[in-house]
Amino acid sequence: MRDLMTYLEEGSSLIADGATGTMLQSLGLPSGVAPELWNAENPDAVRALHRAYLDAGSEVILTNTFGGSRVKLDRVGGLGERTVELSRAAAGLASREAGGCAYAAGDIGPTGELMEPYGMLGYEDAVQVFAEQARALAEGGVDLIWIETMSDLNEARAAVEGAHQATDLPVFCSLSFGRGGRTMMGVTPEQAAETLWPMGLAAIGGNCGEGLEVMTPVLTGMRSVLAKAVLIAKPNAGLPRLEGGETVFDLGPEDFAAHAPRLVELGAQVIGGCCGSSPEHIAALAAVLRS
Ligand SMILES: [Zn+2]
Repeated sequence: MRDLMTYLEEGSSLIADGATGTMLQSLGLPSGVAPELWNAENPDAVRALHRAYLDAGSEVILTNTFGGSRVKLDRVGGLGERTVELSRAAAGLASREAGGCAYAAGDIGPTGELMEPYGMLGYEDAVQVFAEQARALAEGGVDLIWIETMSDLNEARAAVEGAHQATDLPVFCSLSFGRGGRTMMGVTPEQAAETLWPMGLAAIGGNCGEGLEVMTPVLTGMRSVLAKAVLIAKPNAGLPRLEGGETVFDLGPEDFAAHAPRLVELGAQVIGGCCGSSPEHIAALAAVLRS
């Protein structure tokens, strides 16, 4: 397998995976249970999901560690003591399944706590929390760290700093933008790009967020301040709606994949799906991008 940085420098697109949490729920993960627990207690399900995405054409898969920071795990049933164990296990599952044919990305999501001055989480504490998780993911064998779904620029900064403190691996960072073109905490794509890119990232962009349309201002905004950066588009499969008490997303695989050429035109090089996207969505995406 080629070195990730060389691959990206060559300009080829890199197909990521789709949703993890919602897919694990469809495989039987009870709601209210931390998905990360399955890295230890139902590794076969996690492995099967990775395999499904790899078979669909994913060239980079994310570990099942989105909520795997000590702060977040503490909030769901006091699992904080198992932070290192669960992230290491997840990294092992993803990198073994990728088997040298795809990249395994160590997924780091928000802590779920508000940072100072709005909340209690201090910047330096946050750096240490993210460094702990990044170190465990690196020890477990991932090829890169992927910080995603960030909304608070300070928390994203802390995560990038923590990742760099813990490991020399390449770091991706994507934020979640709403339809107004800002994150929930009011950050614009330009602000995110100007603040985070100089910290040393291999790729930056948007994931999750409100629908696919929001990717247009995200990609154009980031490109306007970063001429050369590798850009990420990992949108949800459209918009969520409630159907019989369940959240469903409105774009099926074909409709979702139909947006891919536009994302490429706007400069996205790393492309995948977030909430509501399945291996079928990624297979359709791969068919479009590799045709
Ligand atoms: Zn999402």
